[in-house]
Amino acid sequence: MDESKEITDNGTTLLTQQNRKQHHQAIVWRNVMLFGYLHLAAVYGVVLMFTSAKIATTIFAILMYQVSSIGITAGAHRLWSHRAYKAKWPLRVILIIFNTIAFQFIKLYFMSVKVLVLNRLGTEYGIFKYKYVLLSIFSNRRNHVYEWARDHRLHHKYSETNADPHNANRGFFFSHVGWLLCRKHPDIMEKGRGIDMSDLLADPIVSFQKKYYKLLMPLLCFILPTILPVYCWGESWANSWFVATMFRYTFSLNVTWLVNSAAHMWGGRPYDRFINPSENITVALLALGEGWHNYHHVFPWDYKAAELGDYKLNMTTAFIDFFAKIGWAYDLKTVSADTVRKRVERTGISGQGDAQTSWGWDDKDLPPSDREAATIINKQG
Ligand SMILES: [Zn+2]
Ligand SMILES: [Zn+2]
Repeated sequence: MDESKEITDNGTTLLTQQNRKQHHQAIVWRNVMLFGYLHLAAVYGVVLMFTSAKIATTIFAILMYQVSSIGITAGAHRLWSHRAYKAKWPLRVILIIFNTIAFQFIKLYFMSVKVLVLNRLGTEYGIFKYKYVLLSIFSNRRNHVYEWARDHRLHHKYSETNADPHNANRGFFFSHVGWLLCRKHPDIMEKGRGIDMSDLLADPIVSFQKKYYKLLMPLLCFILPTILPVYCWGESWANSWFVATMFRYTFSLNVTWLVNSAAHMWGGRPYDRFINPSENITVALLALGEGWHNYHHVFPWDYKAAELGDYKLNMTTAFIDFFAKIGWAYDLKTVSADTVRKRVERTGISGQGDAQTSWGWDDKDLPPSDREAATIINKQG
């Protein structure tokens, strides 16, 4: 059918489709420039690491990467997004601090839209314009646990559709970082409204982070990691900024993004061959155990995010197990061998069945048989 005829017959539909296309393809140039700076600064950080930085600064950068990763993997991901275990308040405080160090940029484009609108309104008031640009650098790039978890629940529930914020069907670059450089698809807002987030609203520690994020995030992610090497072991400001802050931060971002890109493309699919998420050992190593992604999408409520393997390729599980030993982590949910076997028979290498879609333990769409057969470690609830 020719395009003009389609417009005449069904104008509204086509207009909507065109709007949608334009909407999610709009590039947010401010983000592109920010990410460009981050990556150039990170490369310069690597150069400094091998030429002038003190060894203590490099060790500090690696430590901060590990700690912030735990804030994502054990905190925002397995605890708050998937409810795969429960944590007493001291552990939740540790995790929220670690998570705030990680800061991951999810909502950057909203800030840009706001600045654009305000710039238009206030063209005659230069000061108005700059005030908001300045504010945007420090305050509007939110990615606290609440938003991270909502986007992540969407990613599981509507995996690889337009409602998935980093839909891997749109290619490696889009699912890795491209999704942060353009405006979100309208389906994300639409479906996002249907995701139950009441559990996180009821958590005072998550609410505290959400309320004070504008203050806490710059302090923990950028300011303190730059100041500490200078005052504690006499590092130069340049080495501290480019190695301990820019390199550490950009490296951590890329590692997290690999879970959305590489682990949705490359690796085996022994649990469900009908979905793209894969068992990717490199990602598992870098992302502290989050690369066993075929298993994780099939059983998102398992606190180990993997069936097999030891702590070497799953540091996050080691962390949670340690806190379970001292009683701060409890109700650790894991899948019984029998449930795994049945699922493999249904959807594995030679299986023919359908895939299930749930975001985790408290999702009403979690199959009751999975819930009943679950093994619960350190049960207190
Ligand atoms: Zn995924
Ligand atoms: Zn997940």
